[in-house]
Amino acid sequence: MTTHMFTNAKVFTGDSETGFASAFRVVDGTIDWVGDAAEVVGEGSVDLGGRTVLPGLIDSHTHPALIAGTAAAVECFPPAVTSVDALVETLRAHAASTSGEEWILGRGFDETRFPERRMPTIADLDQVSADRPVLVWRCDAHSAVCNSEALRLAGIDADTPDPEGSRFERDDAGRPNGVLTEIAAVSAVTSVIPPPTREEQIATILTFGEDLASRGIVAVCDLLSTRIDDPLGVFREAASRGLRTRVALYPGWDPEHPLADLAPGDTAGRIRVAGVKVVLDGAYSNRTAWVHEPYPESCDHGLRLVADDDVLAAADWARRNGVQLAVHAMGDRALDRVIELFADREPWLDDVPSVRIEHATLVSDDRAERMRAARMSFGIATHTVFFFAEYDGYETALRAEQVPDAYPISRLFGTIEALALSSDRPATAWSGADDVMLSIEAAVRRMAHNGTEFGADAAVTVPQAVLLYTGRARLLSPLHGVGRLAPGFDASFAVLDRDVFTVPEDEIASVRVAETWIDGQRVK
Ligand SMILES: [Zn+2]
Repeated sequence: MTTHMFTNAKVFTGDSETGFASAFRVVDGTIDWVGDAAEVVGEGSVDLGGRTVLPGLIDSHTHPALIAGTAAAVECFPPAVTSVDALVETLRAHAASTSGEEWILGRGFDETRFPERRMPTIADLDQVSADRPVLVWRCDAHSAVCNSEALRLAGIDADTPDPEGSRFERDDAGRPNGVLTEIAAVSAVTSVIPPPTREEQIATILTFGEDLASRGIVAVCDLLSTRIDDPLGVFREAASRGLRTRVALYPGWDPEHPLADLAPGDTAGRIRVAGVKVVLDGAYSNRTAWVHEPYPESCDHGLRLVADDDVLAAADWARRNGVQLAVHAMGDRALDRVIELFADREPWLDDVPSVRIEHATLVSDDRAERMRAARMSFGIATHTVFFFAEYDGYETALRAEQVPDAYPISRLFGTIEALALSSDRPATAWSGADDVMLSIEAAVRRMAHNGTEFGADAAVTVPQAVLLYTGRARLLSPLHGVGRLAPGFDASFAVLDRDVFTVPEDEIASVRVAETWIDGQRVK
C-alpha cells in the first residue's frame, strides 16, 4: 500500500461552489481523505506550494474517434487560417509534407471569418493539387470542400443526385462545385478515403490522450465513436498501451445499419460504451440547425436530419442495452421535438440521465422548466466556446431577441442538474478548443473572440463554470471516479500555475495547467 499526502494547496473539491480544502491523502491511486492539514507526512508526500488544485477535468463532448478515423489532417482553424488564400497555402504545405498519391486533408476552416466571405470551392482546392485528391472539413464538420480529383474518385458528377438531407452544391451549369453540405454529402466523398490502419488509430488516440493530460483533462465522452471501426477495441488497446484517460463512447445511430446489441463487459471499466448518438439537425453557425422561425432574411428553417421513428428506434436500443440516448439538437425546433418525444416517458437509467441533449443552443425559461419538470431525466452538454469562437456565424443565424436565450448557462445551472460545458473538438472553430480555461472565461465574461458581449445576463461565476467541468459534469455520463476530490474518487487532479478563482476575469484563459496527476501518478 502506498500512501501520499498532498498539502499546502487550495483544493477545489468539486462538491459545491464553496467546497475547498487544503490537503488530501492518496492511497494506491485513490483519494482516501480530504481536509485541512499543514504537515507533509510520509515518503513521497508533496507540498503543493499554495497552488490551486482542481479535480481532473471532464470534457463531456469531444471527438477523439473522429480524429483517429481520419487520415492525418492539417488543422485549418482560426485564428491560424483566416482567408481562402491562407487555406490553400496551409493545404499546400501539408501536401508537401506527405507523399505520393495520399489524400491531402485538412479540417477546421471557417469561411465566415474570411475577407472573401465565401466558401472555398473546387477551383481553390485544384490549386492545392490537380492530381492528388484534396478535402477540407469546415469547422463544424457538417460540411466540407473537395477538389476535382476527390469528386472523380468518389464518382460524383453533374448527373449524381443529392443524398437525402444534404447537397452537392453546384455551379450555374449544374456541375458540383466541390462544396459538400451536410453529413451525407460529405460522406459520399470521405467514404472513399482509405481509413487509417488500426495501428495508426491507436497511435493517434495515445497522442490525443497526452494532449488532454496537458490540459488537465482526465476523462472524455466521445460523441460519435463509430467514426472508427471497433471503437471499444481500439480505445481499450490504447489503454493497454498507456492511455490514462477515462473514455465514455457513444456510437452513432445509423437507421440503415442498426447497431448490434452490447455484450455485458462493453458498458464497464475505464473505457466503456455509455450510449448511442442521434444527430437530429445541423448547426446554427452554418444556418442548418432546425428552427421554428426562419433564419434572418430567408425562408429557411434549417435541416432536420432524422425522422421521429429513427430517434425512437435509437432510444429503444439504448433502453434495451442499459445506456444513454444522446441527441444532437441545436435548433429550437429540434430541441422542442426531443422534449415532446421524451418528456412523458419513463427514464430507463437511475444513475445518469437517460436522455442527453448535445449543444441545446436556445433554451428559454419555459424549455428549461419543461425539461426540469419532465418525467424523463434530461442532461445537457453545451458550450460557451461556441459563441466565443463562432460569433460571426451566430450573428447571422440568430435574431437579436434570441441572444438572451442562447447558451444561457446561468439559467441551465439553476435548472438542469446534469449539465456540462465541453469543447466539441474538432468541430469547434478554434485551435485549442479544448482549453478548458478558454471556455471558463467565455462562461464568466460572455464575450466573443472579437470582444462583443453575448447575452451577458447568462454569465456564471468561476466556481460554477469549474463545476461544469467537474462535479456537475460527472452527473452527465457514467464516467465514474472523476469530477470530485473526495474519498473513493480517483486521485486525478490538475495543479494550476495561477489561482483561476482570483485572477482578473480577462486573464482566466491564460491560466495554465502546471501539473496533471492521474490515479496518483504525475503525467504532466
Ligand atoms: Zn460534436
